[in-house]
Amino acid sequence: MARFIFVTGGVVSSLGKGLLSASLGALLQARGFRVRIRKFDPYLNVDPGTMSPYQHGEVYVTDDGAESDLDLGHYERFTGVSARQSDNITTGRIYRDIIARERRGDYLGATVQVIPHVTNAIKEFALNDVEGIDFVICEIGGTVGDIESLPFIEAIRQLRNDIGRDKTVSVHTTLVPWIQAAGELKTKPTQHSVRELSSLGVQPEVLLCRTDRELPESDREKIALFCNVPKSAVIPALDARSIYDVPLQYHAAGLDDEVLRAFGMSDAPPPELSRWHDIMDRLDHYEGEVTIGVVGKYVGLPDAYKSLNEALIHGGLANRTKVNIRWLDAELFEHQDHLAAELEPLHAILVPGGFGERGSEGKIASVRFARERRVPFFGICLGMQMACIEGARAVGIEAASSTEFGPTSEPVIGLITEWMSPEGLQERAIGGDLGGTMRLGAYEATLGHNSHVAGVYGSTTISERHRHRFEVNTHYRDALEKSGLVFSGMSPDGRLPEIVERPDHPWFIGVQFHPELKSRPFDPHPLFAGFVGAALEQSRLV
Ligand code: GLN
Repeated sequence: MARFIFVTGGVVSSLGKGLLSASLGALLQARGFRVRIRKFDPYLNVDPGTMSPYQHGEVYVTDDGAESDLDLGHYERFTGVSARQSDNITTGRIYRDIIARERRGDYLGATVQVIPHVTNAIKEFALNDVEGIDFVICEIGGTVGDIESLPFIEAIRQLRNDIGRDKTVSVHTTLVPWIQAAGELKTKPTQHSVRELSSLGVQPEVLLCRTDRELPESDREKIALFCNVPKSAVIPALDARSIYDVPLQYHAAGLDDEVLRAFGMSDAPPPELSRWHDIMDRLDHYEGEVTIGVVGKYVGLPDAYKSLNEALIHGGLANRTKVNIRWLDAELFEHQDHLAAELEPLHAILVPGGFGERGSEGKIASVRFARERRVPFFGICLGMQMACIEGARAVGIEAASSTEFGPTSEPVIGLITEWMSPEGLQERAIGGDLGGTMRLGAYEATLGHNSHVAGVYGSTTISERHRHRFEVNTHYRDALEKSGLVFSGMSPDGRLPEIVERPDHPWFIGVQFHPELKSRPFDPHPLFAGFVGAALEQSRLV
């Protein structure tokens, strides 16, 4: 039977529970165990799909079409295990399901309550879909002590009794802050946080203490004494120079040893960490350096483009190249002079996914700059749509636009109302619900035999993850081809354009899907490896 590791956080948020869970998963995997990592989100949204990127950062899409928390991206990048619908749950979804059951009469007249109905639903979710898995790591969002997370902590407490103490371990992350005035690290917040968790019936076995400097032995001893854990289980966690150093750093600090010890599995084989050493070697000893501009809307918040940021770094790893990313606000590019000054120093330009009209003219202008100046260009989802609008305008369709931005006489980009999915024909209506109704998840595409992308992928059949409501309108295919754009990837039924490219340009590719979601540090996505490679060529020209 699977063993369960519950990861909670205390004192403050943003302590890196997601990276801790991902790194612990990677370390257990490196010892030969099969892992799944799950996220429990205490908020009331059914999923993060309708939340602003400013609120919640990127929405991570799984192969099976879940719009999920961005931590699932870390889990995938660190373990290579594809996340599923069954790996992310929110309070909102639990309540939605319980209320639907109550309305159907499934509870046979019972009073429906947080305990046991909500806690049972949380436990069912944790235990579901784990056949063949050795360790299930469950990360609980939020901070211990929040009202919202109480049912989750209570469910953990119950689960530890239900499946046995030897099958569950609690790992708690805390902060050990440096107080400048006293010139000391302070352990009291950690003590309080562990006391809070223990008062809810969950005594943690392992503590991960985030600090900005070495944690003295005397502080480790004090934390161990007051928090009722062995000293070896007080793991100091200093800020890392790269997220890909975290598994190595936490291993050196004893994290995976302590978790296995708590399970009574100290005889487990040591981890095989060469893939992580190789990544760090590539990061530390790069041979080239490029600057890539990302022209987007949510550039003030790096989390909004989390996977994109990582995929560009992975593209750099593949080329032994350091990638400097310049985040550029598309709205600033409405004026041509400003645009040239910002874009000229770049070795490549990327227009990422996004929603809404704001900044679209700046994105279109950036595409034009890349096309005319022969600078490597990569358009992702909305970025591909902008590349098509730019192409249409270049052949005289001045009013070319997207119906996403309002009524238009030239809908080069239009609403998708029907498409084939593995579950059959999907249909949507104008004015329908916004949540969970996009074309979501993995879909296949067929690539043209002699296309640039077929060369990049080394294949003519691919599968990539989608999250969009609009698509290139094939009524404009002739016009777009006249502008030099080639439709080099289509859905297998030939109806939906998946990829466009410009054969007369050094590197110009637009894709309707999100390749950044499938890139891994140890397996960089071919499009990102190719794009950074093209930027490297460009850097040698200028
Ligand atoms: N807003 C566009 C659409 O819905 C693009 C979406 C995206 O970039 N993910 O089609």
